[in-house]
Amino acid sequence: MSHASSTPPRLSACPALSRIVDARDGGLCRVKLPCGELRADQAFALADAAETHASGIIELTNRANLQLRGVRSGEASALIERLLRARLGPQLGEAGEDGDIARDVALGQRLAAADDVRNLMTNPGAGRDAYASYDTRPLAREILNMLQYAPRFAALSPKFALLLDGGERLAVLDHSHDIWLCAMPPEDAQAWFAFGLAGRPSTEQRCAIGAVRDVDVPALVRALIETFLDLAEPHETRLRETLARCGIDAFLDRLHAHVACPVRNGDDRAVSAWRRTPAEPSLRFGAHEQRTRGFWHVGAQPALGRIDPATLRGLARLAQDCGDGIVRMTPWQSVLLTDIASEAVSRVEAGLDAVGLLRDAAHPLARTIACAGSPGCSKSHADTKADALALAALLPDDVEVHLSGCVRSCAAAHCAPYTLLAVERGRYDLYRRSVPPDLDGENEPARSARIASSTDDALAARRFGRRIATHLTIEEAAVALGTAARRSDPHA
Ligand code: SF4
Repeated sequence: MSHASSTPPRLSACPALSRIVDARDGGLCRVKLPCGELRADQAFALADAAETHASGIIELTNRANLQLRGVRSGEASALIERLLRARLGPQLGEAGEDGDIARDVALGQRLAAADDVRNLMTNPGAGRDAYASYDTRPLAREILNMLQYAPRFAALSPKFALLLDGGERLAVLDHSHDIWLCAMPPEDAQAWFAFGLAGRPSTEQRCAIGAVRDVDVPALVRALIETFLDLAEPHETRLRETLARCGIDAFLDRLHAHVACPVRNGDDRAVSAWRRTPAEPSLRFGAHEQRTRGFWHVGAQPALGRIDPATLRGLARLAQDCGDGIVRMTPWQSVLLTDIASEAVSRVEAGLDAVGLLRDAAHPLARTIACAGSPGCSKSHADTKADALALAALLPDDVEVHLSGCVRSCAAAHCAPYTLLAVERGRYDLYRRSVPPDLDGENEPARSARIASSTDDALAARRFGRRIATHLTIEEAAVALGTAARRSDPHA
């Protein structure tokens, strides 16, 4: 057994609510939101905290969380206390809410460990989406409680990620998860969840390795994590690493020791035939009717994933006045307001316009994402946010692009159609996700071998696709994007 039950929490450099990490522009504090939900009262508290203790820049993340940038020196403890009082962290009872984080090291470690494992994503329209087979939120709450209270799970990496998918049409299907579960169409009034490991639900291929009843989902998740912790070597933080070494059969053999509930295996006809219904990410923009007729969800996106405290307060007021009082964050770094009555939709749309959010998917800034970049991030080779703004003014129609300051790709867990990877100030290499027939005559294996000549090149090729141009200015990048888009468009 690699991770004994007495294993101390894994040390991590990732930001968390009680682990504020230094960046060039001050401390970075990440606030994880169960199911991406932020109540209006919490939004007001967070806006006040960002203004009082940090720079006021609030970032939306690609896992539907928020992070505060520029936490001031000496203000961390007051910030954490304020966020905990707003119930924006793991709930450890009175000690967690009233303890002194600055002096109580053990309490700080307990909070960070409980916070780190709260990596369960649901889809933004959970419980509302007209096409979902299942409202995943109650199950998600049960799993989140289990994750943060099980001492052994503190050994999990903060990157260990789970997806609980209710079959919504508004869904992210291109993120990889260590464990994913997706609601199957109900069968004789019984709900089943297909599940898989180290990947994502597929709309085209057989992908599930088994299925369990809805009531057994928390027990299965617990058993899968216990199995991973049994088998993982200390350096293996993600399930794909352990599976690559020990194989799926050995993993499933071990799983049987932990799981007591009935599990349909992957050869079961219903499981092998199951495919995830296609998603429609464009539904994150604009108004769409919910499962309950006469109520709508309305979505919009802040430019480049950042808002300020005034915008957050404006969103909270809209949610309070016209909806269910909750601002939902999405993995596209956008927001969704839910339970808007038909007669209030236009008021909400006007309110979103007034706080400066984008409701039109065709807007260039709705098709552009960028990581924090310099000067905030010391790893960045360029000021990606400023360059993204300049590029948006020149961006060809229909092109989606991601600007990344380095190969870590913090702004996107998926591979965007085009990525501009910074190589120096104001200069980028251009990558294309899909590889249509070679445009320059060089065959793909030869090209991949050539560009994979260094570790960063290999990682960039894996993350972003094929490098099609190098060392471009922003103006040159706009031209190259237009050319690449025309050449890959069969109708052009
Ligand atoms: S992708 Fe790199 S440069 Fe951009 S924020 Fe992440 S670590 Fe910094």
